[in-house]
Amino acid sequence: MTEPLLKVQNLEAWYGESKALHGMNFDVQPGELVTLIGRNGAGKSTTLRSIMGIVGKRTGSIRFDGAELIGKRTFQIARTGIAYCPEERAIFSSLNVAENLTLPPVLKAGGIADAELLRQFPNLQRRLKSQGTKLSGGEQQMLAIARILRTGARFLLLDEPSEGLAPVVVKEIGEQIRQLKSQGFTILLVEQNLSFARKVADRHVVVENGKVVDTLTNSALEADMARVKTYLGV
Ligand code: ATP
Repeated sequence: MTEPLLKVQNLEAWYGESKALHGMNFDVQPGELVTLIGRNGAGKSTTLRSIMGIVGKRTGSIRFDGAELIGKRTFQIARTGIAYCPEERAIFSSLNVAENLTLPPVLKAGGIADAELLRQFPNLQRRLKSQGTKLSGGEQQMLAIARILRTGARFLLLDEPSEGLAPVVVKEIGEQIRQLKSQGFTILLVEQNLSFARKVADRHVVVENGKVVDTLTNSALEADMARVKTYLGV
């Protein structure tokens, strides 16, 4: 097995006095697409935020591409080549699509150029002059993903991209994410939608009460849906 691109060990994280992660352990190989699955409040989003350095306090180890991220600030973490797409999408409503798209700075060589981004996301090309508030949920999600690609990050943290979207739009987002994987991006995806998760991912890390309780390949997930549904409480 190759050296993991991301190795999380004994990760604990707090919001103020309240502990949300209780010793997370998992890794992600280069080029892999891994989901974090689990019930509401299990700690999936907090795991992404901890990697990005936007929780109150975190301890343990997060090694990315050979460097330790614990102790680094968010802007330093972004410069190592990690980009984060939050659950709430964070589109600037007073800016149009073109302005939102070009807002994140280029931090590393190798990002996707703006013209290429628009070829890859034709829906955004058609809506370039539309304000953030005028976009559908699906368009906002496409924009939220597209704009992090210009930073040069090769490791993407995506928090529930399918949330609140119609099935036909979820399918489109899934195709975009698969395309990113085929372009060589490594992706860690928080997902509650199991049917979406199994269509896009190589491997699934199950989170419960701030810990990893299981790791399944996609075929193991297919073979034991009953067990997985117990984890998710569905
Ligand atoms: P969901 O899909 O519901 O967001 P999740 O698995 O992503 O679930 P987290 O959002 O990481 O779960 O939440 C983990 C724990 O941390 C929960 O107990 C939650 O209540 C708590 N938590 C999350 N965000 C905050 C915050 N900003 N302040 C205080 N506690 C928080």
